[in-house]
Amino acid sequence: MYIAVDDTDSREGMCTTYLLSEIIIRSGMDLIGYPHLVRLNPAIKHKTRGNGALCANLGEGKGLPLKIGSFNGKDIMSYPDEERGTKSTDLVQLASEIVGEMAVLDEPDTNPGIVASCNEFDPSFYWKAVREEVSIDQAEAFIKKQGGEYRKFKNGRGIIGAAAAISWPAKQVTYEFLAYTFPKGDHLGADLKLRIASMANRIPGSFNNIDRRNNHAAIFPSERTPVVLGIRAIKPEALLAEGPEIVAETGSVIERCLLFRTNQATDDHIIPDPAELRNGCSYSIEGTVKVQPYSISGGHYFAELQSRHMELAIAAFEPTKEFRKTFSKLAPGDNVRVFGTYKENCLNVEKMEIKSVSDIYNRVPPECGECGDRMHSRGKGDYRCYRCGNKGKLASYELEPREIDVGKFDVPVMSRRHLSRPFELDFNDGVVTLSEVYA
Ligand code: ATP
Repeated sequence: MYIAVDDTDSREGMCTTYLLSEIIIRSGMDLIGYPHLVRLNPAIKHKTRGNGALCANLGEGKGLPLKIGSFNGKDIMSYPDEERGTKSTDLVQLASEIVGEMAVLDEPDTNPGIVASCNEFDPSFYWKAVREEVSIDQAEAFIKKQGGEYRKFKNGRGIIGAAAAISWPAKQVTYEFLAYTFPKGDHLGADLKLRIASMANRIPGSFNNIDRRNNHAAIFPSERTPVVLGIRAIKPEALLAEGPEIVAETGSVIERCLLFRTNQATDDHIIPDPAELRNGCSYSIEGTVKVQPYSISGGHYFAELQSRHMELAIAAFEPTKEFRKTFSKLAPGDNVRVFGTYKENCLNVEKMEIKSVSDIYNRVPPECGECGDRMHSRGKGDYRCYRCGNKGKLASYELEPREIDVGKFDVPVMSRRHLSRPFELDFNDGVVTLSEVYA
């Protein structure tokens, strides 16, 4: 039985991953496979933080279980297979009680939703929810059609994310090991956080742990939440083996930890080569730079791109930090593929591949045929060599050295979206690899 929840938290506290772990623990049932943390369209205005929805498959486990977490010292096990299903009503009832107790219901924009189903849902709903905007009505109709059941709190918007979490096909996956303490006090200093994030960075296959240039320990949440830290990796084994040791370095009393399978770093939100653009969707578009990038106050850079289908504004905003330097060096004629969310009629670039750089020629006075010195311009078509007295009419053209070259450029770790796939990470037929330089 799949049980999914979303929209239980506020910026002031709680985290839906924590609430799901509570359902797993209190159900007394076996966890089949990994719990899923599924990120959805990052441009949705109702999101609290990272637009994450949660799902677990609970039942009677079959096969050799694997320890994937702990709760107050007790192991949380995951079974590879399921013996038989469990009646959905019991789980929905339990999940409802837990949402009633733990969700931040007095927060105006917290509208929890619970969805349960004996079967996985059709993936079409996931693709819609990760790439577009979906209505509560559409979610209800979909869940009914798939034979699932749901419970809404307040307007129940959370059923959108919860239904999408059950329909995530989990073909391209990464993992995140999350540790919690509750209630949480942020007692860790910046230096200790950086040291612990460096240790996490040594876990084979882990990524997005630390941003050295910006002194940012990305494994630590920046807002109030029961999460102490979260470490991401392409494979579960090393995270399970080394995650607890890293967590111990915080000195925090860890109440629970759990490994999630996720769609983070998959680029699932990106629609490639669209024929038209809609605000609130994310795209990858190849085209030619049309105007020299320019900056506006606040440190934001803009340019224009001509693609096969359209002309569009692209931007590298201040939070993309040093990425803006590369962006600002683009020039007309450069061929690029940009990735990002289209918002207010502008593509907010979150990474780009420079495919070719154009040759830029600057007009300069010609060289003197006799002494080889550069002549001096005395007006249009009038060049003189002051040493030899020679005259010239035609200007020369000199190739300007370019400060950028072809390559793939990510925004720094601290500015990355959960769903954005760093270029170093590759999926080939579902097999994920992380290039050496990054791992
Ligand atoms: P956290 O990451 O801390 O769990 P959050 O950022 O996931 O919080 P929520 O509080 O869950 O934010 O709010 C997101 C809301 O948007 C949920 O109600 C979810 O169902 C809804 N939602 C998710 N994807 C879409 C979509 N594509 N279209 C419309 N609504 C969506």
